[in-house]
Amino acid sequence: MSVDSVFRTRSLGVAAEGLPDQYADGKAAKVWQLYIGNTQSRTAEYKSWLVALLRERGARTVLDVACGTGVDSIMLVEEGFNVMSVDASDKMLKYALKTRWERRKEQAFDNWVIEEANWLTLPEDIHKGDGFDAVICLGNSFAHLPDFKGDQSDHKLALQNIASMVKPGGILIIDHRNYDYILETGRAPQGKNIYYQSDLTQDISTSVLWVNSKPHMITLDYTLQVPQASPQGPPEVSKFRLSYYPHRLSRFKELLQAAFQDQVEHQVYGDFQVYVPGQTKAPCYFVHVCKKKA
Ligand code: SAH
Repeated sequence: MSVDSVFRTRSLGVAAEGLPDQYADGKAAKVWQLYIGNTQSRTAEYKSWLVALLRERGARTVLDVACGTGVDSIMLVEEGFNVMSVDASDKMLKYALKTRWERRKEQAFDNWVIEEANWLTLPEDIHKGDGFDAVICLGNSFAHLPDFKGDQSDHKLALQNIASMVKPGGILIIDHRNYDYILETGRAPQGKNIYYQSDLTQDISTSVLWVNSKPHMITLDYTLQVPQASPQGPPEVSKFRLSYYPHRLSRFKELLQAAFQDQVEHQVYGDFQVYVPGQTKAPCYFVHVCKKKA
């Protein structure tokens, strides 16, 4: 089956450039907050790491290029950063917009800018001004972008556009799951998931699509037990599917180098700790920190 036909079998909204918005049917968007688990405890895991890194680099302005329902952006707005948040899915943005509206009396939330934008057309979709001190793309978001053309040209374009938003001297923080491990073992690394802490997860089944002997797409079918609307009501089961491009660590580093035209200082973290290749515990996520040379 071609990659294209996998997507066509499902009813999906279409984002810029004809790319599917995997969140368009609203199913994942609706339960995302539940999947993340308690938002405070999710963010506590890496909040101190992220906030310390941003402060250490003197960042004031932050662009979140995959804000989704707004979990990271809200944390940064609360921490006093000047945040612009974008996402391609209006179904996900709806939740971020709702929070901004509910907290509009707080000056920081009144100033929070939220826009719909796609990485493939980012420079046309938003005004970057002089650029941002920091750009973040977290929660395995970048892997949502498929490689329909089979040459990673969309990945290159998107990363170039994202990198262009960073001021000289500023940083990009971008992550992806440890797909090397998933491809080698057929399952995600064991251990606590730094992002998704919900105890509602019943099952996540993994399938890998190979095209021309290369791993091309990983599909995760999520089954979540959603608490009943009323105490007497039956528990609901929510099922949704998300597909990802399985970025390998070494190749992703090359893509990042190219996106910054080699004018970059690059560092990799595993689950927000300094990553040592070959370390005993395989991280669930790789986090890349790229400093654009001034
Ligand atoms: N960072 C958030 C959202 C993760 S879900 C969190 O951790 O909770 C990934 C998000 O990436 C989705 O909201 C999806 O709409 C967005 N996304 C996927 N492809 C995109 C694209 N091409 N341009 C902009 N956003 C995109």
